[in-house]
Amino acid sequence: MNSEVSSSAPTRAATSSYVSTRGGARDVSFNQVLLESLAPDGGLYAPTAWPRFDVGELTRHATAPFTDIAFGVMREFVGAAFSDARLRACIDETYAGFDHPAVAPLTQLDAGLFVLELYHGPTLAFKDVAMQLIARLISEALAQSGEKLLLLTATSGDTGAAAARAFAGAPGVALGVLHPHERVSPLQRRQMTTTGADNVLNIAVDGDFDACQRLMRGLLADKELRAGRLVSSVNSINWGRLCAQAPYYFSTIAALGAGGGPVRFVVPTGNFGDAFAGWAARRMGAEGVRLLAAVNDNDALAHALNTGEYARKPAVETASVSMDVQAPSNLERLIFEASGRNGEETRALFSAFETEGRTALPDALLHALRREVDAVSIVQSQADAAMRSTYERTGFLACPHTAVALAAAARAPFLEGPTVILSTAHPAKFPDAVFAGAGVHPQTPQALTALGELTETFERAPADAETVAKRLRAFAGERLG
Ligand SMILES: *Cc1c(COP(=O)(O)O)cnc(C)c1O
Repeated sequence: MNSEVSSSAPTRAATSSYVSTRGGARDVSFNQVLLESLAPDGGLYAPTAWPRFDVGELTRHATAPFTDIAFGVMREFVGAAFSDARLRACIDETYAGFDHPAVAPLTQLDAGLFVLELYHGPTLAFKDVAMQLIARLISEALAQSGEKLLLLTATSGDTGAAAARAFAGAPGVALGVLHPHERVSPLQRRQMTTTGADNVLNIAVDGDFDACQRLMRGLLADKELRAGRLVSSVNSINWGRLCAQAPYYFSTIAALGAGGGPVRFVVPTGNFGDAFAGWAARRMGAEGVRLLAAVNDNDALAHALNTGEYARKPAVETASVSMDVQAPSNLERLIFEASGRNGEETRALFSAFETEGRTALPDALLHALRREVDAVSIVQSQADAAMRSTYERTGFLACPHTAVALAAAARAPFLEGPTVILSTAHPAKFPDAVFAGAGVHPQTPQALTALGELTETFERAPADAETVAKRLRAFAGERLG
């Protein structure tokens, strides 16, 4: 065993079982969480008990390879589902495919200001860090059980690209991708529509991303779709995604030599998955982590945390398309934790939100939430100005999502200790928006130039549950039998 991460009680058996945030499921295994994503009561899965890591031990090994940290974290969550050797092999294989040896390198921009580069995977966005790994874990789990799996994803661009790349041609898996028609960047769309794999179906939905998410949740509950096969999602409602993102918070603290001291992470936020992975890292022992969720004009999360009113509004289109979310799915996880893991309260709040499109957060809960995370909304002109000034001052060219975090960091109250901006995508995925913001053309990496010559395959559909369900039932029938 070569783990740089040491852990103490609770035991692996406790930490690798799961409960639902709505109180209706307990003692669920990691494989079931991975292959089901949403609990039967409509809640999200959370670990029965959080493992704890000794971060002092972790940071004494500032040069620990990312894969060691990922292994140390992940083994607590997979439990008995994978042997240490199999897990280690999946992790090593996954990150050997990244184009930087550090996987998630940290670069310094300024005194006390750092950028965590999360775009060194095959589709140039942070989604690859977890998607590439869980694709391997899902394939292993299916090989063990002999089952077939229909995977679904609603995407604002990057999740669909990462999933299509990770699951193209995977045996026993069919992947259905729902993206909002003409609301993803052309390069993002090409990444998901040019795999050429017949186990991937892309549907462009006439609606926004939240409409795609609602359709997907309906599909997950569709009994006919489930006949004789498993149906799961690779959105960040799937805990497998989130636990695979916690390691880069630990590796950053190790690289900074920050120990238990404060480190502010500014996270470009849509569904609150990446930010929740940071919350989890703190819960697991990285006590210095301070979280600032930076959202764009789609400010439902910031509005909820700042006023107590959580209300659904139609999403507006911004340059940071992958953050055009007004009903952030992982807010449910934070509310579950902040309520003292009260499944009843969590269920009541989200049922109200689902049926009425709004809900008021009780005062006690609101205070608890504010202790966990800050949130700020940044308008386009602020993000553009931050993109341009950062480029002029430091030479770092941010993607439009990262620019939202840069602008948020500049407005945040003083905090002792370093600030880390999570850089969630390569600027070349969004050349027009980057030119509009900073006045420069990003250099196009090889991975993107080749896409122009490939044929795109996708279908269009109205945002109608029955139409989309029918198409996916037919697709699943053809591909999985
Ligand atoms: C998905 C995405 C985000 C938002 O991440 P969440 O986990 O949904 O909050 C931010 N930036 C980019 C580039 C993304 O692809």
